[in-house]
Amino acid sequence: LTDRLTGIFSRLQGKGRLTEKDIDDALGQVRRSLLEADVNFRVAREFVATVKERALSGEVLESLSPGQQVVKIVHEELTDVLSAGDHRLTPASQLPSVLMLVGLQGSGKTTTAAKLALHMKRQQHSAMLIAADLRRPAAIAQLQTLGNQLDIPVYSEDPGSSTPAQVATAGVRRAAELALTWAIVDTGGRLHIDDELMAELEEVKRAVSPHQTILVVDSMTGQDAVNAAEEFHRRVGLDGLVLSKMDGDARGGAALSITRVTGVPIKFVGTGERNDALEQFHPDRMASRILAMGDVLTLIERAQEAVDEEKARELERKMRTASFTLDDFLDQIQGVQKMGGLASVMEMMPGLGRQSKKMQGQLDESELKKTEAIIRSMTMEERDKPDIIKGSRRRRIALGSGTNPADVNRVLNQFKQTQRLMRQFSNNPKGLMRMLR
Ligand code: GDP
Ligand code: MG
Repeated sequence: LTDRLTGIFSRLQGKGRLTEKDIDDALGQVRRSLLEADVNFRVAREFVATVKERALSGEVLESLSPGQQVVKIVHEELTDVLSAGDHRLTPASQLPSVLMLVGLQGSGKTTTAAKLALHMKRQQHSAMLIAADLRRPAAIAQLQTLGNQLDIPVYSEDPGSSTPAQVATAGVRRAAELALTWAIVDTGGRLHIDDELMAELEEVKRAVSPHQTILVVDSMTGQDAVNAAEEFHRRVGLDGLVLSKMDGDARGGAALSITRVTGVPIKFVGTGERNDALEQFHPDRMASRILAMGDVLTLIERAQEAVDEEKARELERKMRTASFTLDDFLDQIQGVQKMGGLASVMEMMPGLGRQSKKMQGQLDESELKKTEAIIRSMTMEERDKPDIIKGSRRRRIALGSGTNPADVNRVLNQFKQTQRLMRQFSNNPKGLMRMLR
């Protein structure tokens, strides 16, 4: 227990200054994390360079370790990139506002069309779905089924006698007659980008001049999603993205790549096959997910609150002079509790989330409370000189804290172990920090 407790706190003490080596070490991990999340390698490289510049020049928080400082900057930068542009979907002044969905086959256009229509309906806006995918006969039927489920009108024509542009035009006209707020145009896709598809989409776009052209991107697609998106943006012109299938285990690196390369904002996130599985986009959550670092930022914020600088400096001084007392030990334990308890701290630690269940046995919260009670039952003299705690004092402390003498011994041993670690720290701070990080 003590080792880990000390480990957590050493992470929180930090060493005050970021060296270029600290930054490079941490950014190496960040770069790997980005590539694992399917961020385009070009984007990852540029991004890391930006972060390095900021980390070298930026201010330093005493209460964070170098790794955490860098992660904090990375998280802020990621959130910045993902925050670019307007994430809302607001209707135009004239009726109807036309929204055209484009994307590769299977990306989730038709599903997203229905989800958006439901979303609009729930906002007291009326909508019509327009079936302008004439490439697959089943596409029209799919949209009609969804429209029926949601009680939303669907406009379609016989695919044999019209072009997608004609269907879209007639559908928008119908929506105007009905004075609907939105006309949502579902279009055809191909497995890969090709000229014919692009020409078809250009024609539809010219015919209905959409207020919003939205690319639906399957979040499971890897690095080449960015190439497809660039091509859609170049040929058709995009106003926004919907990232589908985020309910899977994709980390959403494609989102970062596409937003960074095209500058097009993410509007919504698809989180399931159901019609209501559409969520507002949250840049900060996406940033955490891309980094796969749990809720690192929350942890960092809490750490900053819990360890005020004064105390950190005081503890540092004590470590240097190796005068670490039971009162300091108690402070450490309270710090952990202030942060929401060990279990929640561990949930948020990169790489520990999964292990936290297993480790909870060793880091039992009730054990922490017991430890606190035991130290509180000691007199000031005993806290200063724990060596004087023998038979009768031990019994008194156990009685006062509702524990037994064996528990008192355990706490004293843990304390001694921590004290030993602190002495080591004062002899070789760098080595210990590295070991604990
Ligand atoms: P389209 O070819 O672009 O129109 O794609 P579809 O809308 O037909 O969707 C293709 C498949 O992806 C269907 O099986 C959908 O149910 C599924 N799908 C779409 N969006 C999501 C999502 O957000 N989550 C999950 N799990 N499946 C989705
Ligand atoms: Mg479709």
